[in-house]
Amino acid sequence: MRIYGEKDVSKKALKGATIAVIGYGSQGRAHALNLKDSGFDVVVGLRKGGASAKKAKKDGLKVLEPAAAVKGAALVAILTPDTSQPAVYAEIKDALGKNATLLFAHGFNIHFKQIKPRKDLDVVLIAPKGPGDLVRRQYQQGRGVPCLIAVAQDATGKGKANALAYAHGIGGTRGGVLETTFAEETETDLFGEQAVLCGGATELVLKGFEVLVEAGYQPEVAYYECLHELKLIVDLLHEGGVAKMHQFISETAKWGDLLSGPRVINRKVKTEMEGVLKDIQTGKFARVWIRENKTGKKKYTKLLNKDLAHPIEKVGRELRARMPWLEQAR
Ligand code: NAD
Ligand code: MG
Repeated sequence: MRIYGEKDVSKKALKGATIAVIGYGSQGRAHALNLKDSGFDVVVGLRKGGASAKKAKKDGLKVLEPAAAVKGAALVAILTPDTSQPAVYAEIKDALGKNATLLFAHGFNIHFKQIKPRKDLDVVLIAPKGPGDLVRRQYQQGRGVPCLIAVAQDATGKGKANALAYAHGIGGTRGGVLETTFAEETETDLFGEQAVLCGGATELVLKGFEVLVEAGYQPEVAYYECLHELKLIVDLLHEGGVAKMHQFISETAKWGDLLSGPRVINRKVKTEMEGVLKDIQTGKFARVWIRENKTGKKKYTKLLNKDLAHPIEKVGRELRARMPWLEQAR
């Protein structure tokens, strides 16, 4: 394992360079503002008249349409939604300078060949391990969110040095920049969000809620137990791993955890997780998702509506209305 820090950043890399950031959402805004505060000449590439363009201008940034923004930029960061990136690349392709660095914050489109970059470009990845608002906030406090770094195409031999200089500019070297590959970042990111973070965690909550409600317990009590209190546990895990959680829960909770955890998340669940990973590795997940996007997202919309119509959402809305401090606690 290789972790880069501030001392590994080349003083010459991207010196005096213009950096174009395409997209001004969660990551785009944080990267653009941090890079500007780090002394780079930053230009944001956005469609004319959109809400993001207004916001970027209000934040004091130079805003141009994507193709104009990338002209003369030594590094171009594509930070629009992953599904939009092939179209964004097609739009900027001919305007990209010779030997420019093309940077992504997630490897999907390169790894699954939805974008085939020009051969003269360096193609790199800097993926912060946190949402944009955290990347911005940590930077402002003199700290940094750790990042992953990878190089997919190194036409100039300077790809990695440029990527590292960019990571430094957004504060990443303060948190550590861990070396990976586009394949590893893409596959583990997809697996994490599907099996554990988004898919796994919400499904665990919903099934727990259903079991209690179907057994005749009040939905409100089931909500507190299965959803609301999850934050406490996640915070403990985040701060100090399993050991810190064990330190703060009761003896009875600990015994129940050790006894029933493996009963619920059993061998069968692990086998399903392995199946999810296989579908990611073989490209099946990507194929289906790309097709879903091209055919009007019908199944996606149906599944999403079903998730949002779950009874836990109704009881949750009512209970959260009594806890206005929840939003500020984040
Ligand atoms: P987002 O959805 O928050 O932002 C999208 C931005 O792109 C908006 O400003 C929108 O106006 C702009 N946009 C959309 N289509 C466009 C187009 N055709 N041309 C120009 N601009 C367009 O996106 P995000 O969540 O910041 O994700 C950006 C990248 O960062 C993705 O590759 C994502 O996988 C990666 N990433 C995100 C996170 C996260 O926490 N959100 C974490 C790590 C990596
Ligand atoms: Mg779900």
